[in-house]
Amino acid sequence: MIVARTVADLRARVAARRRPDTTVGVVPTMGALHDGHLELVRRARADCDVVVLTVFVNPAQFDDAADLAAYPRTEERDLELARRAGVDVAFVPPVAEVYPAGFTATVALRGPLVETFEGATRGSGHFTGVTTVVAKLFGMVGADRAYFGRKDAQQLRVIQAMVADLDLDVEVVPVTTVREADGLALSSRNVRLTADDRTRSVALSRGLSAAAAALADGERDAAALLRIAGAPLDAAGIRPDYLAVVDERTFLPVDRLERPALLLVAAPLGAVRLIDNVLLSAP
Ligand code: AMP
Repeated sequence: MIVARTVADLRARVAARRRPDTTVGVVPTMGALHDGHLELVRRARADCDVVVLTVFVNPAQFDDAADLAAYPRTEERDLELARRAGVDVAFVPPVAEVYPAGFTATVALRGPLVETFEGATRGSGHFTGVTTVVAKLFGMVGADRAYFGRKDAQQLRVIQAMVADLDLDVEVVPVTTVREADGLALSSRNVRLTADDRTRSVALSRGLSAAAAALADGERDAAALLRIAGAPLDAAGIRPDYLAVVDERTFLPVDRLERPALLLVAAPLGAVRLIDNVLLSAP
């Protein structure tokens, strides 16, 4: 595995591996790799000839300087995991390589998709930070396919909308959320949970599963599903930032489950903010 730290080196390394009909896959991450990230790499490895993993803690998408400062950074371990997972090129740029002096461009979407939920809680700049860096990473890598986790469902949808709006020639591949045995969605932030909050954290996935089970039993009313999903949170003393049933494309609220929808949750546990979701698809 090659480690590239400059765009020029990244391009040279990818070009050296490119043949006619070669497929290049990119897995964008902020590092502190866990099995969720590695699942994206496994999918890319199975689908693509060349796999590029990017590790970049993107300052532009953090609304909170303390969250950025506390974000876990484990580069040596990440590179070892990436190597073992079969990554061809790991791109680990310093901030100045991505945002050099004089950098002024932004890629920004508008509307409810970027202004609600994570966009509302983390501020309007959050998704602009995400779309700007992902557009840059697509351009740097020259990727044919890009792998994103369903865990960050709104981010996935925002990237799909950006690719469509800008006619980017990149296929976005969604990957199912990887969970701990008790249901907690893997996240780089989980390591910062206290033991007590780690125990309480299971309430998020329990609520989502209970709502999905109620849907399978015939419940179609979004308010009823939200009550079911909220009960384990109440019992654990967790006050979510949001708990909502939304259309999977528009992220607008849904009253009755007539088409596939997403049940979204975000909640602070101590200093850590967790997000999760489940696809509600009526049988
Ligand atoms: P991050 O490093 O948190 O920015 O995440 C990088 C990519 O990994 C994003 O596409 C995430 O959606 C994805 N990801 C994070 N956690 C998981 C998980 N538990 N299962 C699947 N994908 C994940």
